[in-house]
Amino acid sequence: MARAQLFGIPVSPGIAIGSIRFMHDMGQNEQRHISPDDALQEQEALRTAATEVRASLAQSMANVPEELAEYRDVIAAQMELARDPKLLNAALARIEHKCICAAWALRHTVEELCELFRSMDDPYLRDRAQDIRAVGLRLRECLTGRQPRDRSQSPSVLTAEDLSPADVMEMDLNGVLGIITVEGGPTSHTAILSRGLHIPALVGVTGLLENALENETVIVDGLSGCVLLGPDEEDLARYTARRDEYALWENHTRRNAHWPAEMCDGVRIRAHANLESADELDNFASSGADGVGLYRTEFAYLKGELPSEEELFREYAEVASRVAPRRVVFRTLDVGADKMLRAQASLREPNPALGLRGIRFCLRHQGIFRTQLRALLRAGVAGNTALLLPMISSLGEVQAVRRILRELHEELLAQNLPHATNISLGVMVETPAAVMICDALARECDFLSIGTNDLIHYLMAIDRNNRHVSYLHDPLHPAVMRSLKRTIDAAHREGIGVSVCGELAADPCGLAILLGMGVDALSAAPCSVPGIKHMIRQLNAVTCQELAHSILMSTDVRACRHMAYEKLHQSLGPELAFHTNSLLHQGQP
Ligand code: PEP
Ligand code: MG
Repeated sequence: MARAQLFGIPVSPGIAIGSIRFMHDMGQNEQRHISPDDALQEQEALRTAATEVRASLAQSMANVPEELAEYRDVIAAQMELARDPKLLNAALARIEHKCICAAWALRHTVEELCELFRSMDDPYLRDRAQDIRAVGLRLRECLTGRQPRDRSQSPSVLTAEDLSPADVMEMDLNGVLGIITVEGGPTSHTAILSRGLHIPALVGVTGLLENALENETVIVDGLSGCVLLGPDEEDLARYTARRDEYALWENHTRRNAHWPAEMCDGVRIRAHANLESADELDNFASSGADGVGLYRTEFAYLKGELPSEEELFREYAEVASRVAPRRVVFRTLDVGADKMLRAQASLREPNPALGLRGIRFCLRHQGIFRTQLRALLRAGVAGNTALLLPMISSLGEVQAVRRILRELHEELLAQNLPHATNISLGVMVETPAAVMICDALARECDFLSIGTNDLIHYLMAIDRNNRHVSYLHDPLHPAVMRSLKRTIDAAHREGIGVSVCGELAADPCGLAILLGMGVDALSAAPCSVPGIKHMIRQLNAVTCQELAHSILMSTDVRACRHMAYEKLHQSLGPELAFHTNSLLHQGQP
């Protein structure tokens, strides 16, 4: 195969060199008409395939390591789908009515269902298309007689249209050098899973299946986002050296993860971790983070049944006590937009990202909110905790929460239940409205936390799921830069601390600018914390201030990007290439 270069979205850093291994059978789709007499036989083949798929998923579930326990739920949902009448009955009926083979009937049914789910407004339901496709691929492989995967195969780069956690669990994890897929975004299962496993990965690689060949050598650059198919000798030598340098650098940052994040001129920054569940506490411990800057509490709610106060209390108390004496900032329930409660689906909001999400949902459904707040207040005695309110757009929302907290305090007192009194309360600044009233919010709260992931989307008026406008997602846009500066200054004028907990905190350029603007703390995924701390130790406050100042003075995004690159290259040297550098490379057309 001739040398070819493809591009994707880097979602897990590092470099992998290995041979391509297709996760799924990429053979021709079977497309066979049958006689009516053969329909029963084809239907039976499909039922047998469904039984086999459920058994293989159960096997994958058993292989899920403890640190990835949350993926058991995803696999369990796929097992349910493999018996779902919507999928199976529709395919069985199609065999009979259209007189076509089982594989063909299945493909039509899966495509139809995926299309239906993809067109839904509700992002929770939209994501189900990913699971339907995954189950469909497994069924197809059973029907076409694919041999079960040999888990002992030599190390390789997993290549697929899309991967589900069950697919990855089916492999010998030590044998997966890298992952490349056509589908998926930065928050897809593939992305989260590969980061958790420290496997270099790229998603959204266009042209992958048309160009890649099984067993062909491939280089996956999870830093710059490039895939090299059929590399030549020179590529191999260059990337082998780069891979080894990166591994050394990563080991070094992890070994020194517990050193303080202190800039060359003595300015200290707190580097915190963002956690999604208590399962990540081991990752937190090895990350060297100074505390948990954002504990996302949605996970317990997205499993179906609403969790009880006792369940939540146990989860929060475990996290608080294991992180103590360091602080955990628990963000109250932020459902809506890309994270939906099943009950919300019935609302059928035309645009959920601008709908009843975060604090709006909680103030409307106070029963759910009060249960969570009671659990959080009670867990407050187990460690050092704070509360953070998402999606705030008015002062009234914060005042309403303060009133509820006072009532709950009286209630818990009357019930003789130990709980935190005077718990620190902060708000997420992630809407343009919050930026405009950040001075008033800073007077009402104990700290601010800037959620750049949402803030950038809401400032630029772009839908997270709309590829056509994704080019506008540019953190260096003056509207974003000015909003950050305005918020940081307002917090400091009111004498409170301000942190940034969106992805921007892990980007070298974003990080340097934020430090230059005077942010007090940064919070990012545990795997990014050692690299962030290492980077902070090589920067100096004055250089960062100069950079932030020049960027705030300019409206030319290209020039800003160039300027940031120059400054960072001076401070970090070749190490700059070891960060994903998304901000330095992206840009408007
Ligand atoms: C953010 O919006 O930046 C943030 C940290 O919250 P989430 O990604 O959970 O919406
Ligand atoms: Mg957010």
